[in-house]
Amino acid sequence: MTDVRVRFAPSPTGPLHIGGVRTALYNYLFAKKMGGTMILRIEDTDQTRYVPGAEDYIIESLDWIGIKSEENPVVGGPYGPYRQSERKAMYGEYAQKLIDEGNAYYAFDTPEELDAMRERLKAGGVHTPQYNGLVRQQMKNSLTLPADEVKAMIDGGEPYVVRLKVPLKDEIRLQDMVRDWVHVHSNTIDDKILLKSDGMPTYHLANVVDDHLMKITHVIRGEEWLPSAPLHVLLYRFLGWEDTMPQFAHLPLLLKPDGNGKLSKRDADKHGFPLYPMQWTDPKEGTVASGFRESGYLPEALLNFLAFLGWNPGTEQELFTFDELVDSFSIDRIQKGGAKFDIQKAQWYNQQYLKQLSNAELGQLLLEQLKTEGIEASPEKAEAIANNMKERITYTSDLWTEAKYFHIAPIEYDEKTVRKKWNETAVNGLKAFTSALASEGDLTPERAKEVFSKTLEDAGLGFGKVMPALRISLTGQAGGPDLMEIMAILGREEVIQRIETAITRLQENV
Ligand code: GLU
Repeated sequence: MTDVRVRFAPSPTGPLHIGGVRTALYNYLFAKKMGGTMILRIEDTDQTRYVPGAEDYIIESLDWIGIKSEENPVVGGPYGPYRQSERKAMYGEYAQKLIDEGNAYYAFDTPEELDAMRERLKAGGVHTPQYNGLVRQQMKNSLTLPADEVKAMIDGGEPYVVRLKVPLKDEIRLQDMVRDWVHVHSNTIDDKILLKSDGMPTYHLANVVDDHLMKITHVIRGEEWLPSAPLHVLLYRFLGWEDTMPQFAHLPLLLKPDGNGKLSKRDADKHGFPLYPMQWTDPKEGTVASGFRESGYLPEALLNFLAFLGWNPGTEQELFTFDELVDSFSIDRIQKGGAKFDIQKAQWYNQQYLKQLSNAELGQLLLEQLKTEGIEASPEKAEAIANNMKERITYTSDLWTEAKYFHIAPIEYDEKTVRKKWNETAVNGLKAFTSALASEGDLTPERAKEVFSKTLEDAGLGFGKVMPALRISLTGQAGGPDLMEIMAILGREEVIQRIETAITRLQENV
């Protein structure tokens, strides 16, 4: 069998959508499973939609999530260049072959003439006017104009495009690996433009030519490209490449969280979840779209979540290492129906992966965040905080945002706790505790607990009378992780200091 070669072929028209990452992942898993090669090809032939920074964004995103291609615009490879704009000169010869063999033609219609054609057809009751087998007979092209006139126009620099001559009556069939046989009648396909007036190929021509020249064996891409597939099959046929035509697998759409319709930017905004792997700042508008990376997702967790968006192993297992995914992955188990984008599932994955990290690894993640906040902490302290927080976090950022009190003394105190639990008894208990602490050495959680219990016992007070007041003095918050551990992390002096500050600040509430 020939070696499996797959490609991820994004267009740099903006940030990579999470659905695109899923497509890249399925290509990658399949390549790994088959011992094949993964290629990244940048499809930038549509210069009007080119967005600066998008290509770098795509490359960085794939890198972050751990999808590695062997051949790409950065490292090159045997079938380069891997950026279509740099391959411009390669496409003309194939367009010429199509023309020479009567499968494509020159068209000189101006935008106004095309508009007029559409208006005419609409007035005649045609819903979606197409430049097709019937219409082309009435337009300005090399099928209707005399050959010498066509030549004169081309020589005279008249702008033209090259269109595919779709057969009038033909049935196009393709066997999709996910959807099985797909049949399309050629009268539903219009004479798509293959070469634009600037000499650039369109997506269709460039995609087919490159997949052929790059020896791609499997085209795994989103369902939105299924309508283009019959056209691609025609091109393979006309170019004489049917024997080596890649196999197609069109992946299911990503649906809204409730399953009703296609996942959109609006859903993401409404529910407050990211739709892009990394944060993206639009170079023109300056608007910022949130990313999974900045929202505190681990790349491994996102990858595991995405693997299940349209595929399942047929078992109950949900947590997979990358190698396990490669082992279990098969195109047969990709579903036809759309996949609901359940962000809670993504959060669950993230929690599971965070729990699997060691305290040292989590501590390191916290230190990185603290650095961006301009806060210093020792690795030991970060590790202790990680240990204290790990059962409660959904995002890496929670290590900081949910527990700022480890680094900054509280400025405010939970209002309800103050109202209900801050009273003379509590304050007396706290005062007794600080004096007991005064003669202590370094605090461990165990020692903190002993001193606290002993103080309350001596004063004849129950835990519940003083504990909430102690917690808000130290953290400002009503609830949180183990308080004895918090005290050990803060250190004895800081504990005394915070309690005294709270007593002073809240004296009117007693
Ligand atoms: N450039 C297309 C895109 O942006 C690629 C589609 C395909 O994989 O054929 O998705």
